[in-house]
Amino acid sequence: MPDKTHDPLQRVADQLKKCVKCGACRANCPAFTAFQREPAVARGKVALAQHILKDDLELDDQTYLAMSKCLLCGSCVEKCPNEVPTDEIVIAARESLARKRGLTTFHAAVGQVIKNRSRMKMGAKMAALLGPLFFKKIPATSGLRLRFPLPFVGNQRHIPAIAKKPFMDRHPEVIPGEPGKPRIVFFVGCMTNFVYTEVGEAALALFRHLGCTVIIPKGQQCCGLPGMSGGDLDTVRALAETNLAELEKYEADYVMSACATCGGALHRFYPLVVGKRNPELKSRLEALAAKTVDASQLLHKLGLNPVETCAGDDIRVTYHDPCHLRTRGLTGQPRALLNSTPGVELVEMEGADRCCGLGGTFNVYHYDSSMTINEAKSRAIAATAAQAVVTGCPGCMMQLSDGLKQHGSAVRVMHTLELLARKPGVIKR
Ligand code: SF4
Ligand code: SF4
Repeated sequence: MPDKTHDPLQRVADQLKKCVKCGACRANCPAFTAFQREPAVARGKVALAQHILKDDLELDDQTYLAMSKCLLCGSCVEKCPNEVPTDEIVIAARESLARKRGLTTFHAAVGQVIKNRSRMKMGAKMAALLGPLFFKKIPATSGLRLRFPLPFVGNQRHIPAIAKKPFMDRHPEVIPGEPGKPRIVFFVGCMTNFVYTEVGEAALALFRHLGCTVIIPKGQQCCGLPGMSGGDLDTVRALAETNLAELEKYEADYVMSACATCGGALHRFYPLVVGKRNPELKSRLEALAAKTVDASQLLHKLGLNPVETCAGDDIRVTYHDPCHLRTRGLTGQPRALLNSTPGVELVEMEGADRCCGLGGTFNVYHYDSSMTINEAKSRAIAATAAQAVVTGCPGCMMQLSDGLKQHGSAVRVMHTLELLARKPGVIKR
C-alpha cells in the first residue's frame, strides 16, 4: 500500500482542488495540438493527478503515458482563470508515479548520464570521435543525420555535432574584469558546454566587453531538468544541492545563464521542488534564484550597446520565445537588444511565444508528436521570410534546426548572443 502521507502529490493537494474543469487551458496547449485527447490537456492531467492521489486508479502504462504527455511549457498556467499550477502538478504526479512504479528504463538511464558530468564529458568525447561511424553530414547544412535508427532517436532526426573541446575546458575558472564592474558566475549548462560552444563564447565575449569579471565554476553539473521529465526528482535534488554549493562559493553579483532551461531550473524549479521539501535549503535556494538572470536580461540591464559588438551584412531575423524565458516574463529584453542592433531587422512570427515542441525529454520520448508541434513553428518562421531564427535556449535551437532541416529550409538558427557578438574580434579565440 503506497504511503499517502509522503505522496509528492500532497504538496499540491490544495492546488488540485482549484481546477473547475472549465477547459480554458486547451487554448495553446502544445500537447493537445499533438495528441488531440483530453488526458493530454491540463484539465485531464489535473483529474488524473486527483485519482493518483486518491489511490483509486490502476497505475498502469496508460496512466504513466498520459502523464508523460506534457512539455511543462506553462502555457496552461498563464491561461487558467483559477491560477492552477498545472506544471507543478505534473511534476509532482510524475514523481508520485516514479515512486510507486519505479522509473522507466529510459528515464533511469537519463538520470545516470546527467548525474555525473565527468561521465557525460567522456560520452561527449566518444561521440565526437566516433560520430562519423554513426552519423553522416547533411550537404549544405551543419547538421548530422544518423546512418541507421537507434532506439528513441530514429534516422530522420537532424542532430547538432558534439564540440571537439567542451566550452568549460577552454577557459580558466576566473576571467578577471575591471575593478568596480559586476562579478558574474556563469552557469554554462550541458548543451552550451558540449554542443553549442559558440553560445558560451559569445556570452563570455559580451560580458568581458562590458568589463565584467566572469567566473565559470568547474564543479558545476547539469541543471537536472531532464530528470524532471520522468519523475526522477531525487536526481534533480542531488544536482540542485551540488550546483547550489558550487555557485555559492563565489561572491558574485549575478548568476547568469544563456540557456533558458538552466535559468528556469535555478530561478524557479529548484526552490519549487527542492526548497519546498527541505526548509534548510529553502532560503539558500531562494537567494540563488534572486541572483539568477538570463544573459539577455543582464546585458539589457547593464546597457550593452550592440553597435559596439555587432557588425556585418544586414540580416532579417525572427525571434522564438523559449518557454522558460516567457514564463519568467523575459520577452522584451531580447527583442529590445535585437531592435537596437545595427543591420538587424526583426520581424515577428505568428505564435512566437508557442512552445517549439522540445519539452526536455518529451522530444525523445514522444519524438513524432514533438515534431507535429514543431510543424507550426517551422511554417511560421518560413512565413516571415527571415534569414535566421533567433532564440535564447540551446535546447530550442536544436529543436528548431531539426524542424527546419526536415522542411529543407536554409533558415539559420542562432542564439541571441551570437548575433549580438557578430563583430569580428569581439569573440577572442
Ligand atoms: S486547469 Fe484551469 S483552465 Fe484548465 S480546466 Fe482547470 S481551472 Fe480551467
Ligand atoms: S504545461 Fe504545456 S503541455 Fe503541459 S498541459 Fe500545460 S499547456 Fe499543455
